[in-house]
Amino acid sequence: MAKPHRVYKSSAIVLRQRSLGDTDKIITLYSADYGKIDAVAKGVRRTKSRLAGNVEPLSHGSYMLARGRNLDIITQVQSIETFQPIRDDLSRLSYALYAAELVDRATEEREENFAVYKLLLDTLRRLSTREDIDTVMRYFEMGLLGRLGYRPQLDQCVVKPRPLEDDEAVVWAPALGGVVCSQCRPENVAVTALSKPTIVGLRALQGDNFTEIAQQVSGANVSDELERHLREAIHFALDQDMRSAAFLDAVRRGPGARPVRPPRTGTR
Ligand SMILES: [Zn+2]
Repeated sequence: MAKPHRVYKSSAIVLRQRSLGDTDKIITLYSADYGKIDAVAKGVRRTKSRLAGNVEPLSHGSYMLARGRNLDIITQVQSIETFQPIRDDLSRLSYALYAAELVDRATEEREENFAVYKLLLDTLRRLSTREDIDTVMRYFEMGLLGRLGYRPQLDQCVVKPRPLEDDEAVVWAPALGGVVCSQCRPENVAVTALSKPTIVGLRALQGDNFTEIAQQVSGANVSDELERHLREAIHFALDQDMRSAAFLDAVRRGPGARPVRPPRTGTR
């Protein structure tokens, strides 16, 4: 006789779903206790399915799963939040789906990271209630980079680490993972000038208190710059080929140039 399925439970957010056969779906969950999980929701493509409403992307619930031979199976769901205000507003919805997709792309299966779960949950709650959506998204992006080990270095020069003065001019070198001072401009790496309010805004986004940060950042009028710089940071952090290339360039610059961080290993 087959061994009984092991059953386990976790709070989780649905990142995405895709069809499996005629009646089932594969659901990608980001769970509080086990990180990212792919699991089967059986029968959810039938009209009468009770599970169906709780496996839509961005659903937050308590999921009961049974260990399966290949994929685990969702046996029961208790809904916690549906984030209805997000679903009712196409713009909020697109930001929320982008956040879910970024978490999906940036994480490996079954690598527990409660901080990522909490960040995504807080972001969905803010997207449901707040008007300063740009700041919500920038805080999410900066937070995700930090929680995955790619926190941009903004208080020290990334080439020769030394503390920077508050008003010292720096350039942004996303391929190197942070800012570079005027004394050691790298030759083979793309850099962008950073205005004072932009570097202040980027540094503020690394803080912990969202309410304070929102006041600081939204008044600064640099949301386009912050968006562009964080997109670049994400691009280099998540794209392995680009990271490898930047790493090689940093090494090629020779002695004295500190290779910032080795490329990520493992599959994505
Ligand atoms: Zn320097």
